[in-house]
Amino acid sequence: MEFRTAKKFYDNLAKGKIYGIRCRKCKKYTFPPLLRCRECSSESVEWVVMKGTGKLHYYSSTMLPAIKFVGEPPSAYGLVEMSEGPVFLTKINNADISSPDSIAKGNKALPLPVKARVRKIAGMDIVTFDIKK
Ligand SMILES: [Zn+2]
Repeated sequence: MEFRTAKKFYDNLAKGKIYGIRCRKCKKYTFPPLLRCRECSSESVEWVVMKGTGKLHYYSSTMLPAIKFVGEPPSAYGLVEMSEGPVFLTKINNADISSPDSIAKGNKALPLPVKARVRKIAGMDIVTFDIKK
């Protein structure tokens, strides 16, 4: 992410607002926000607040967390398709990762609706999702 784009994105996340961009040309959404549309590369884009809803398609657990999260407990990561279309990989707060069997069982129930929740983890604001049960 380009610096000014990243700053705007994270400044808004701190206020609980999840921004993406929408392309004026092809009308598709890009998330996380970039300077140009991920679908057609147009630079004619506008910032929009994402609904924060979507579907979880797959999840697993972190065996080796990213270095910045090394002090955090193991957690679930999953592939979320946002209602606006973009797909991204992020932390899932309430997925069962207690054993390989529970992960397999949890995945069999997918896709399930999810709701975004901005959480502060290791000092960073992160877009995470809760499975709606
Ligand atoms: Zn486009």
